Formats: sequence, structure tokens, C-alpha cells
Amino acid sequence: MIEVIDLHKTYGRGTAATRALNGINLSVRPGEFVAIMGRSGSGKSTLLHILGLLDSPTRGQFFVQGRDMLKLTETERSRFRLEEFGYVFQEYSLLPGMSILENVCVPAIGLGKGNNIRKRATDLLQVVGLGERLKHQPGEVSGGEQQRAAIARALINRPAILFADEPTASLDVTSSRVVLELFRKLNKELGQTIVMVTHEPDDRQYVDRVVWLKDGLIATEDGHPRFDGVSDAA
Ligand code: ADP
Repeated sequence: MIEVIDLHKTYGRGTAATRALNGINLSVRPGEFVAIMGRSGSGKSTLLHILGLLDSPTRGQFFVQGRDMLKLTETERSRFRLEEFGYVFQEYSLLPGMSILENVCVPAIGLGKGNNIRKRATDLLQVVGLGERLKHQPGEVSGGEQQRAAIARALINRPAILFADEPTASLDVTSSRVVLELFRKLNKELGQTIVMVTHEPDDRQYVDRVVWLKDGLIATEDGHPRFDGVSDAA
């Protein structure tokens, strides 16, 4: 599903340069639920943003479903993001002034899919446990409920991969658990491929595999670089 070879990312130039990724090799199989973990500054967000086509690497290779992601034009990238990827961030980023249901429909409108989209959005909101909240505004529901609405929104276009960047960082323990159990259910029951950045050690119990990062390299759990730079298979 995802194949990354010797991926590097350097921010800035010269003396101001920061090497955020130093040669990442990583494969993610269809249907896998992978967590990217490591200390603050280890490169987790940088890697997730590159995988999600929200940023570009300095060098390396990157394929999704066999397609070379670094050869896409800007228009193809935008289209690929909308059609194949779903995103969940720490901030739910729902649009105020729109109902939860309308928010979930937004990415589908971006693809010009009009028909049956409200029905699909309604079904997804049932799946995430918000069947009773369709007409509420984002500000009228809890943080955990907003995040579940954001998850439904991320799934509206049937993405091949769901990317989540610290999805529970703004939530209390109970809401966090609900969100992670929801990810687990989507992964198990729908076969949804999920790549999630988290710094919560407890989140490990929900995923198939943890990819540890240290100083922009794949590491072992105790922080040693792996000599082959490759993450373990599940
Ligand atoms: P993590 O998500 O693990 O906390 P990041 O990917 O955010 O790590 O950051 C990795 C390194 O790259 C850090 O040293 C960070 O300061 C640096 N970095 C991240 N984003 C930028 C940026 N936009 N400009 C310059 N340096 C950055």
C-alpha cells in the first residue's frame, strides 16, 4: 500500500538546516493499522505529512499502490489526496455555521459527488456513534464527538489510507479511548488502512505495529537505530 525508500527531509539551508528525516525505509500493507511513535522532534509529523502528500521530501522514493507519488503534478496530488486519503488531526477543524452532517459531506462536494452523499454521511455518522447529532453545530457537541465527526468526514470518499496526527491529544481519557476503539473497529471490520502518529504509550494496544522513530531514523523501541533502517513487519 505504502512503500518508502531512503526518505530524507531537511528544513532550511546551510547553517540553519534541520535534518528531520535521515533515510526512512518503510512499508505499510493494505489493512494494517500502524502507529508512528518516538520522542518529540524525532520526525513523526514530518513523516506523516510527507506520506499524506501534505509536504515533499528532500530526496528518496515514495509509492502508494505502486504509483510514484513524487512524480505527480500539483493537480494530481490534490486529486489523489481527496480521492485516496483521509485526514484526522489533533484539532478537529470542523467548519462552524454548518451542521455535523454538512461538515461530513464537504470532501465529497470537493469531488463533485452529489448523489446519495447525505445518505452515506448519515450512515458514517451512525458508525461513529453520532446518529443523534446530525443537525447539531460543531460547537454544540463535545470534543470527542467533534473528533468522531472529523473521522466520519475523513472516510466520506472511501480513502485507501486514513492518516491521523495525534488524534487524541486534545481529548480526555474516556473520549480518547472511544476514538481509538473506533479506529480499531474501522480497521478490523472495514479493513481500513490507518497510519497514526501518537506519543501516548497506551495507544500501542490498539495497533498492529509500532514504527519507532529517533532522530529521523527508524529505531528500535529502546531508541537504538536499526542497522537496516527497516521497521519490523507485524
Ligand atoms: P515530531 O513530530 O516527532 O515531534 P517533527 O517532525 O515535528 O517531529 O520535527 C522533526 C524535526 O524537524 C525537529 O527538529 C523540528 O524542530 C524540525 N522541524 C519540523 N518542522 C519544521 C519546519 N517547518 N521548519 C524547520 N524545522 C522543522
